[in-house]
Amino acid sequence: MGDATQNEHDVDLFVIGGGSGGVRAARIAAGYGARVMLAEEYRLGGTCVIRGCVPKKLLVYAGRFAHEFEDAAGFGWTVAGATFDWPTLIANKDKEIARLESAYRRNLDAAGVEIVPQRAVLEGPHAVRLADGRRIAARHILVATGARPNYGLDIPGRHLAITSNEALHLERFPARIVVQGGGYIALEFASLFAGLGAKVTLVHRGDGLLRGFDQEIGALIAGELAAAGIMLELGVTIDAIDEMEGRRRVRLNDGRVLVADEVMLAIGRVPNTVGLGLETAGVQLNPSGAIAVDAASGTNVPSIHAVGDVTDRVNLTPVAIREGHAFADTVFGGKPWTVDHSLIPTAVFTEPEIGVVGLTEAEARAQGRRLDIYKTSFRPMKATLSGRQTRVFMKLVVDQADDRVIGAHMIGEASAEMIQLVGVAMSAGATKAVFDRTIALHPSAAEELVTMRAKDPSSDPLPAAAE
Ligand code: FAD
Ligand code: NDP
Repeated sequence: MGDATQNEHDVDLFVIGGGSGGVRAARIAAGYGARVMLAEEYRLGGTCVIRGCVPKKLLVYAGRFAHEFEDAAGFGWTVAGATFDWPTLIANKDKEIARLESAYRRNLDAAGVEIVPQRAVLEGPHAVRLADGRRIAARHILVATGARPNYGLDIPGRHLAITSNEALHLERFPARIVVQGGGYIALEFASLFAGLGAKVTLVHRGDGLLRGFDQEIGALIAGELAAAGIMLELGVTIDAIDEMEGRRRVRLNDGRVLVADEVMLAIGRVPNTVGLGLETAGVQLNPSGAIAVDAASGTNVPSIHAVGDVTDRVNLTPVAIREGHAFADTVFGGKPWTVDHSLIPTAVFTEPEIGVVGLTEAEARAQGRRLDIYKTSFRPMKATLSGRQTRVFMKLVVDQADDRVIGAHMIGEASAEMIQLVGVAMSAGATKAVFDRTIALHPSAAEELVTMRAKDPSSDPLPAAAE
């Protein structure tokens, strides 16, 4: 970077959005000596820290205590008089979020990033306009504005519904809640509210939950949620919401009416691209309204890049962080690399939780691969004394061509923790034989991952070579 170039611009990098992707990119770029400015219109940390992964997981932990108290009885414990106080949970959660937000600020400060606490929009390939009217000339611009809940339902009374944003800040605990959606957020919130004692109804337009996941996982979690007392209303939608004596009346499209304290819509998220000046700067969107990017997170405008949820690739925090890091290494560190989006471990923090990495059986078959499928379903040891009606399910998808494990899907306690490590093995190209020769750790649920020997009958009967 020569002096002449430096002087043309106020900064080398302007980052719009102080969430997972933007903060990582800003810090790494500043570490390479770039002059970096970052605008955040709400709170540093972004969706994940302020109103996503972190507060959600804290509430998930809270919900799990009720199960533990119930399970304790079979082990001889009497947990008398346990009560739950929602305002205490929310206040403690808020304190932790404020601590994390400060840590984000400190880290950016320490890296030398100038934080601008206001909205920023594009005005051209090298120009950003701040809400206070200032115009900043930037050599590079990174759009990392994330996504927001889909408010798109065009139904009467839509304004009476909340989304995950508000669910994390409710003043009063909703004793009865209707949640619409069948994806990550709907299932996680339905499950955690049920754990905390709410009467939950889950309304979903499809016949199965978690579209895109391995089919068996969707069916099994439906059973587990129903066993936890959640009313599943599948194949229906909400037609209208109205208010009656402080309560919400929900009319379904089959004519039935549900009454609840809150109605939560969890029907997807939309990239934050509206009103961002993308047209002015000439940045192209893809048909879903996300910023269209190449493998290096470049847009069609060479000086403008985009990472994270605003690009709608894989909308997870570690992915946004990786994309931000790769961008900064490539553009400012002289170390070009791109993110591999093919093997991303992910979890749904329901009770019990789901862990997944790699291809589903259907995806692998659609690629024309011949497969060996290994499955196990068993009652976890803890349930033998607790009496809880729950099962652990694990499934490995193995490519017959080279014996590699190309998909792992599980549901049961600690699946999120396990799948992270299965992901390590799969990233290293582990074959089923490698799983098999790994000595089991007993007694654990995880040992089943290395002791599955019998192929499921759904496997291809003959290896391709034998035909
Ligand atoms: P964000 O983190 O959304 O950051 C974007 C930031 O840009 C925001 O702070 C926003 O205020 C700011 N901004 C937007 N426009 C402007 C502008 N014009 N000017 C200035 N600032 C602007 N992922 C996981 O991996 N695990 C989980 O368990 C998980 N749980 C989730 C739970 C919920 C309820 C939700 C909603 C999401 C969850 N996610 C989870 C997804 C995860 O939060 C996102 O994938 C991640 O935050 C994306 O990071 P990002 O940097 O792209 O955007
Ligand atoms: P998802 O895309 O996971 O699910 C959206 C759900 O809403 C689907 O069941 C979909 O149904 C349904 N839906 C969409 N549009 C409508 C409509 N118009 N009317 C009725 N139902 C509708 O989105 P989420 O909002 O749950 O989560 C967004 C993303 O955030 C996730 O995909 C994930 O990437 C990330 N996230 C990750 C978490 C984690 O890592 N644990 C937790 C939370 C979020 P259909 O299947 O029929 O399309």
